[in-house]
Amino acid sequence: MINFTVGPVQMDDETRNLGYEQIPYFRTPEFSSIMKENERLLCSFFDAPDNSRVIFMTGSGTASMEGGVINFFTKEDKVLVVNGGSFGQRLIELCEIHEIPFTEIKLDYGKPLTEKHLSQFIGKGYTGFLVQLCETSTGVLYDMELIGDFCNANGLFLFVDAVSGFMADTFSMKKMHVNAAITGSQKALSLPPSMSFTVLDETAIEKCKKNDINTLYFNYPLYLKNGDRGQTPFTPAVGTLLQLNEKLRRIEKSGGIIVQNKIASERAEYFRKAITSLPFKIFTDKDSSSNCVTALCPTNPGISAYEIFEILKDEYGIWICPNAGDLAERVFRVGHIGSIKNEEIDKLVESFKDLVKRGLI
Ligand SMILES: *Cc1c(COP(=O)(O)O)cnc(C)c1O
Repeated sequence: MINFTVGPVQMDDETRNLGYEQIPYFRTPEFSSIMKENERLLCSFFDAPDNSRVIFMTGSGTASMEGGVINFFTKEDKVLVVNGGSFGQRLIELCEIHEIPFTEIKLDYGKPLTEKHLSQFIGKGYTGFLVQLCETSTGVLYDMELIGDFCNANGLFLFVDAVSGFMADTFSMKKMHVNAAITGSQKALSLPPSMSFTVLDETAIEKCKKNDINTLYFNYPLYLKNGDRGQTPFTPAVGTLLQLNEKLRRIEKSGGIIVQNKIASERAEYFRKAITSLPFKIFTDKDSSSNCVTALCPTNPGISAYEIFEILKDEYGIWICPNAGDLAERVFRVGHIGSIKNEEIDKLVESFKDLVKRGLI
């Protein structure tokens, strides 16, 4: 199978080879020093300010979304949450469950966030802002400089779910005034699913230390204390952390995160150019499209996006990413993260062309 989903994505051979190894005991100085290096490299790739730290959470991206909501916000906060798709909706649900007072900024799916969405909230006592970098369900890349400047000017704590956008799209905690940001192992890092990572600046570290946190597994101050010596409070996905280390070192050696952004951007461009003659419409506006994924709507009447996913899976050996909920019949997505060669993209495009020939799209 060729995998064009947005996670788990295709892994590099280096990562796969490490997956064959025995899992070592981890309460050792040797493992601690690997963890310290993981922390240093993640901070560097998030362009985090000095003295930032990383929480290594065993749990998928959603675990770190929930951990962030629990640790960085309280009932005394009043936050803005951007909801432009299913991951924005998840942030809303988390605020509801944990009783964080919030106002939803509801966007039409596939549409960007603009200045006019934000200006109405100036001077209204808001303390926090929760948003994706890329809303993976629609492929929209939010204008993080606009959001960061707004949060900085108005004193809002900015928490960014960069689970899918990290590495694919330009991101800098420093330049975008981000206090805490997360990513996950099975997205652009191309590791097995199992872990997610939160980078915290000094404000975020202080904030979680002050909160009265009513949880053991998601207690970030406990993770920070163990992290001082390169450890986690509980047994982490040790194998994934070793694969993370190898991957981060390889990224550093090959020119750092800017090179990764460029690879994703070129790959997205290559795909989008190749499909211009096909009966699809790109769901997002051109200048707010993430490099992580392209969301497509079939334009011919009566064609189900979900059926295209099924036919490619069953007859062509290709996984694309179906959409859930309201968009299931209307939109499918093609991911650009993970280890993907241009020849594989060519094969996907040829398969689409074959579906045209067969009268199926
Ligand atoms: C994939 C993803 C997540 C996390 O999903 P999990 O299934 O819990 O790993 C969170 N946010 C975004 C934007 C994502 O793309």
